[in-house]
Amino acid sequence: MTAEVKKIAVLGGDGIGPEVVGEALKVLKKTEELFGYQFETESGLFGGIAIDEKGTPLPQETLELCKNADAVLLGAVGGPKWDNNSKELRPETGLLGIRKALGLFSNIRPATVFDCLKEASTLKPEVLEGTDLIVVRELTGGIYFGEKFRREGAQGEEAVDTCVYNVQEVERIVRQAFDIAMTRGKRLASVDKANVLETSRLWREVVNRVAVEYPEVELEHVLVDNCAMQLLRRPSSFDVIVTENMFGDILSDEAAMLTGSIGMLSSASLGEGSFGLYEPVHGSAPDIAGQGISNPIATILSVALMFRLTFGYHEAAASIEAAVKEVLDAGHRTGDIAVDKSKAIGTTAMGDLIINAMKK
Ligand code: NAD
Repeated sequence: MTAEVKKIAVLGGDGIGPEVVGEALKVLKKTEELFGYQFETESGLFGGIAIDEKGTPLPQETLELCKNADAVLLGAVGGPKWDNNSKELRPETGLLGIRKALGLFSNIRPATVFDCLKEASTLKPEVLEGTDLIVVRELTGGIYFGEKFRREGAQGEEAVDTCVYNVQEVERIVRQAFDIAMTRGKRLASVDKANVLETSRLWREVVNRVAVEYPEVELEHVLVDNCAMQLLRRPSSFDVIVTENMFGDILSDEAAMLTGSIGMLSSASLGEGSFGLYEPVHGSAPDIAGQGISNPIATILSVALMFRLTFGYHEAAASIEAAVKEVLDAGHRTGDIAVDKSKAIGTTAMGDLIINAMKK
């Protein structure tokens, strides 16, 4: 059987972006060999390099490339060279622009603790045992996007931030979270502050309504303050967490730190349908760019996430995840996760070990 060709737009970006994306492309190739899938990859300029070559961080042709693709694989953007540029000529402006233009309304961040890296976390290994969760964060609504202003109040100057959510915004992200839960442990924690916030009460109503369509998923409502505590106390009890923009911003960073290293964390931003943009959580790491020592695992795991969430290639995703685990269990480490830095291996060596460990 010949698989349908999947189009992937590849945006390496700046700093270590192109290095780590290069290793992820090797994983795509290996997946084609092992599983018979077909990928068509095309690269586009994005971020600082696009500013240098095209005068804008998000050139129109790059946007078209992404719109015509089934998924986008992004490295990272930014660096000191562009730090003092005006807002429209900053690489990070391209990131906001691409998310908006592609209608990406949710951010997905897995936090998986690899047994052999438990020591890298600040939490006790026994607390982390078995932690494998996903935070689904609403990305385009809530207090970050509400009306903001200053005014003169009875006691002098005041500042106001408004938080608005409508039913449709809540429903689409909640449905996405239920769908993700169905592909995993079938447990969903919806996080809100329904004891004080009206937007949270609406959120909870919508969650309860959508839950009827997913009888197999075990749902719990957790107040955000309690969730922040439980993530540190019993992280392994969570499967999928869904929450609004600001709570998700904070909780996804907290969950990320459970795993210990930024070089290991993948992420996805999803819109309607199966389209998604996949990228490591880390930035362009200008301090180590060009030295061939960056950790490619976050980007490689982003490919596994793409297989699961956009293409439904669960077997291939599992093959990548198992290969990463096998290589780490065998003691191989890049500098960022190595205890003995003198034994650290480079970016390409790590990528090679992972593709060699991939099995059908
Ligand atoms: P960073 O994530 O780039 O680096 C933080 C630290 O972690 C550095 O010491 C770096 O060497 C290390 N690190 C990060 N990824 C690593 C990897 N894969 N392997 C080994 N070590 C790794 O964050 P920063 O230093 O705050 O930002 C650097 C630039 O990246 C800035 O211009 C920032 O705006 C940009 N940035 C971009 C994104 C993105 O593209 N989505 C995200 C965050 C930061």
